[in-house]
Amino acid sequence: TASEPLLEVRDLEAWYGESHVLHGVSLDVREGETITILGRNGAGKTTTLRSIIGIVRKRKGVITLRGQDLLALPQHKVARAGLGYVPEERGIFASLSVDENLSLPPKIADGGMSIADIYRIFPNLEERRNSPGTKLSGGEQQMLAIARILRTGARVLLLDEPTEGLAPVIVQRIGELIRTLKTQGYTIVLVEQNFRFAAKLADRFFVMEDGRVVDTFATTELSARMGSLHEYLGV
Ligand code: ATP
Repeated sequence: TASEPLLEVRDLEAWYGESHVLHGVSLDVREGETITILGRNGAGKTTTLRSIIGIVRKRKGVITLRGQDLLALPQHKVARAGLGYVPEERGIFASLSVDENLSLPPKIADGGMSIADIYRIFPNLEERRNSPGTKLSGGEQQMLAIARILRTGARVLLLDEPTEGLAPVIVQRIGELIRTLKTQGYTIVLVEQNFRFAAKLADRFFVMEDGRVVDTFATTELSARMGSLHEYLGV
């Protein structure tokens, strides 16, 4: 049914070597929904995304996509299942042009977005199509990183702090872009420190602290949660 989670994480634990970082993360996203993971630096937000996608291999718990167990899959098969990850450091090819960056990712799942469609929703990237990655602004690099993931055919997008370090006007552009993807039915997991930005996009919030989800609420409850959020986030 429509209310069943598309992606579900239950009691996820994760380690870097001997260092136990996640202590039981549970969250879920329904198809077409946008959720936001909030939390202070070091709370485990990035590690949660890296564990879902399989970069962090030392994990325990349950991660399913459409009921399929992701924990058992090698990383390339997770991508093929339709999950795409845009890391905070963006991961574009700096020496290659926008066009080349968009031509490289293989179509690893069905329904990868065409370059023409990419340029329709990222007109500024088309203007810069022959520029190398190094010449792009931070906002353009972020958009290119997202565009590359759309090329792969991923329908579930894990975005790690896409607004980090960007000017307010660019943050707004990224917000419009995420809203466009949402209307196109993409399912989005957004890690974000800026909850005012996230409030305009997210359906629900999950708050992390010390490697656990300590609170979850619908965006409609955000204003009522401001007090406890300030406590969790130290803002
Ligand atoms: P930030 O906003 O700073 O990225 P975060 O909530 O995403 O914070 P994580 O990056 O997931 O937090 O970090 C969770 C914990 O894991 C922190 O204590 C961090 O120091 C530790 N950690 C992160 N990466 C590694 C690593 N490669 N090796 C060892 N420990 C790490």
